[in-house]
Amino acid sequence: MNKLNSIDLHTHSVLSGHAYSSLTENIEYANSIGVKILGMSEHQYDSVGVGASHHVVGSIVRVPKEYKGTRLLRGVELNILDGHFDVAKYGERFTKNIDYAIASMHSYVYSKDHTSKQNTDNYIMACNTDYVTILGHIDYSPFACDFEAVIKEAAKNHKLIELNNSSIVPGAFRVGARDIDKNIILPLCIKYSCPIIVNSDAHIKYEIGDFAASKELLEEINFPDELVVNYSYDKLREYINF
Ligand SMILES: [Zn+2]
Ligand SMILES: [Zn+2]
Repeated sequence: MNKLNSIDLHTHSVLSGHAYSSLTENIEYANSIGVKILGMSEHQYDSVGVGASHHVVGSIVRVPKEYKGTRLLRGVELNILDGHFDVAKYGERFTKNIDYAIASMHSYVYSKDHTSKQNTDNYIMACNTDYVTILGHIDYSPFACDFEAVIKEAAKNHKLIELNNSSIVPGAFRVGARDIDKNIILPLCIKYSCPIIVNSDAHIKYEIGDFAASKELLEEINFPDELVVNYSYDKLREYINF
């Protein structure tokens, strides 16, 4: 079994416009603390004021596939919008160049006025999109949904639910997320045998692979290790071809 933090697929660099470390700093730091599979998941350029420039997805192929034994995966964090994502302009180039996509909701492009039913429908749309691998931080309370319907659909469509460490650290801006994870999302993942992935959502290099809060929560509820893909590269390969 790998260490929990040997895989971290949700990280941002200055390319996202609101994170603090460079891609190089992230890669070197991740390698130095023993992360074996590092995913780069910049926000996309329709994220008003905060997304990566439209050149990023096209040029991320210039990042090597490996750095001193750490496998580097090319990802993106897509914005879930109403019935679609902010990728329309990429077309084929987009899906060809990335290893995986995280789909998530962000208030700067997706209104908090959406109803639970609308959020549910949009998450289900994401579950039915081939190039989406991970549903990111569904524990954000303004975007509450029918969690049971979403997790059931994720399990059926072979998508991973993210346990986002940034959601549950003390003082996290996603208020109440830890309770939602503990009492609703993680128990539903057990009920539907839906695997999860623990990610940092790092916005500075020091957050990469720091999963202490997640480890504590998983132990607190005796969450089964076999449903955590971070513990097995083979399990992750069932979701991402690398
Ligand atoms: Zn996000
Ligand atoms: Zn993020």
